[in-house]
Amino acid sequence: MFDKVLIANRGEIACRVALTCRRLGIRTVAVYSEADAHARHVDLCDEAWLIGPAPARESYLRGGRIIDVALHSGAQAIHPGYGFLSENAGFARACEEAGIVFIGPPAAAIEAMGSKSAAKAIMADAGVPLVPGYHGADQEESRLAAAADEIGYPVLIKASAGGGGKGMRRVDRPEDFARELAAARREASASFGDDRVLVEKYLLHPRHIEVQVFADGVGNAVHLFERDCSVQRRHQKVLEEAPAPGMTEARRNEMGQAAVRAAQAIGYVGAGTVEFIAEPDGRFYFMEMNTRLQVEHPVTEMITGEDLVEWQLRVAAGAPLPREQSALELQGHAFEARIYAEDPDNDFLPATGRIRHLRTPETGSDVRIDTGVREGDEVSVHYDPMIAKLVVWGDDRSAALRRLRHALTDFEVVGPTTNTAFLKALAAHPAFAAGEVETGFIEQHRDTLIPEREPASDRVLALACLAEFLRIDEEAADRAARSGDPYSPWHHTTGWVLNDDNHHTLHFRDDGRDVAVTAHYRPGHYLLELPGGETRARGTLGREDRIQADLDGVRLTASVVRDGPHLTILCDGHVHELVCHDPLTVGMEDEVREGSLTAPMPGTVISVTIAEGDTVTEGQALMVLEAMKMEYTIKATTDGVIEHVNFAEGEQVTEGAELLAIRAED
Ligand code: ADP
Ligand code: ADP
Ligand code: MG
Repeated sequence: MFDKVLIANRGEIACRVALTCRRLGIRTVAVYSEADAHARHVDLCDEAWLIGPAPARESYLRGGRIIDVALHSGAQAIHPGYGFLSENAGFARACEEAGIVFIGPPAAAIEAMGSKSAAKAIMADAGVPLVPGYHGADQEESRLAAAADEIGYPVLIKASAGGGGKGMRRVDRPEDFARELAAARREASASFGDDRVLVEKYLLHPRHIEVQVFADGVGNAVHLFERDCSVQRRHQKVLEEAPAPGMTEARRNEMGQAAVRAAQAIGYVGAGTVEFIAEPDGRFYFMEMNTRLQVEHPVTEMITGEDLVEWQLRVAAGAPLPREQSALELQGHAFEARIYAEDPDNDFLPATGRIRHLRTPETGSDVRIDTGVREGDEVSVHYDPMIAKLVVWGDDRSAALRRLRHALTDFEVVGPTTNTAFLKALAAHPAFAAGEVETGFIEQHRDTLIPEREPASDRVLALACLAEFLRIDEEAADRAARSGDPYSPWHHTTGWVLNDDNHHTLHFRDDGRDVAVTAHYRPGHYLLELPGGETRARGTLGREDRIQADLDGVRLTASVVRDGPHLTILCDGHVHELVCHDPLTVGMEDEVREGSLTAPMPGTVISVTIAEGDTVTEGQALMVLEAMKMEYTIKATTDGVIEHVNFAEGEQVTEGAELLAIRAED
């Protein structure tokens, strides 16, 4: 076995590999980009080497540089994780030439599967079933169109070099073929530098079922059962499970054997995944083989009790597979939910931003979280927007699903927009619970999975008010303790300072609506006038944005996360955002932001009301940003003259970017 391994990746997969290495007593070398200097994977490894600036092609994709680091640090092997260099045959070969073990298949096996077309030809020879289609070398439009006619519409055009759902177009009618072919070619050459395509039958209501295979260097190959990854958006997986719902033992064996045959046909060594597309009646066809560890491998680990990274390390070190086929047993059921910074409301486009608050469910043998980020980290445009993988296990599918729903309720992320609410809706969907999965699931149930935004409930408003008042009281108490005279009435906020009828009104903006809540101070509690009636509220603030509340005698715990005037209330698995316009809060906000005219979050400049040379007065509105669907006004922090304005209307800004500068007047 190796003593020292370099992990050529970042994020959750680098962390996950490091943990297995640590358990096995293998020292780890991390590599990192400038953007990742404080990343979790850097801390988890025994040493970490800077390899370049943020963009992946200048850091994580620099194979030569990474091999140099391996040589200098004394690492004997490189684990590529997934993505980046994991399916790069040139890199695998360069490792070999440098005398370093590439923890993955031989370069020739990566090459054989690198082209979907070539892979299909090999699979056809190995007797693995294929989707009816054309994967030949002749790329003339007329030849491809004739193939489509022969196959029968609808057809799917795929980039041969494809991956990640790119360069893939469905065509329903012959008259659209030329246009879609041109589009697929454009996407393919932009993404992969190769515009070759294949054409195949587009299956209606299929399932994506894949088989985990493993082979060693001494002639053994096994499969570790299947995963169902049918729940996808934009041809990309979001929720995976093992075993596949409704799978029969006979079909499992048949698919498992086909997958092992596929691996053997290319002299495979290490972990691989053979992806099949399955018809509603159970017939299945080879789609592609991914020659690496896959994002969703933990569901397989949960149902087999095996550590696939440990298997990879052993096999790469020359040892035989730890188990034979007959010793592998499938137990219970597992789900993986991918928590992404993305906006389900906006076609699942990736989101960015700082993670202001991160609270995760308790983990144990039945709940596992693989993540590479921590609270305070930035989800940037440079890398994959996945925040974490939540993996759960149960005795059977319904037990596992219940656990998934529960764990998702406890998964709180505030900052970038995420898909957590969407995942919760998915996990709670009756059709999903019934196992009616297919690749069109999300499209088909879109309306129920992406619910309309509802107005803030009384409970949400009560929690928001309570958190604000408790915080104001706490800050006043702090100030009193720090000042010389803790008994001064000016530090006393009960009833909000000399307000003789002891009440105060908070104004919230709730998705375009204005809501006001008046609170009356009473000894020991606040009496809140909420839209639905009066509520007696009391509580205490805890650490990490937690609040313990008592609302009319009902006790509950929630999180209220504050970022300037923005409040995010997380309670019972629901997330609600409010903007608080309160003289008390806003006043404090100005104190905090004094002197800084930087963007509080990434967004778009939607208006600029001043120009260079203008004289402005403190508090004057200068610029309006739109971020996360909310408008944010940038106000002058002082009287003065605008020195320069760095952004115009319509421009994008990153968090922390200097928007403009004011020269203060004395
Ligand atoms: P598939 O969808 O075919 O199963 P995976 O789900 O295993 O593939 O995802 C692999 C993809 O994830 C890669 O092709 C790449 O686009 C992306 N990716 C992988 N690694 C990272 C990483 N560390 N950081 C980011 N992105 C990665
Ligand atoms: P990638 O390399 O992007 O992972 P795949 O060939 O694995 O590409 O296909 C990705 C997804 O596209 C599949 O999981 C499936 O949902 C859909 N898909 C692929 N081939 C077909 C097909 N012939 N008919 C219908 N859907 C398909
Ligand atoms: Mg695929």
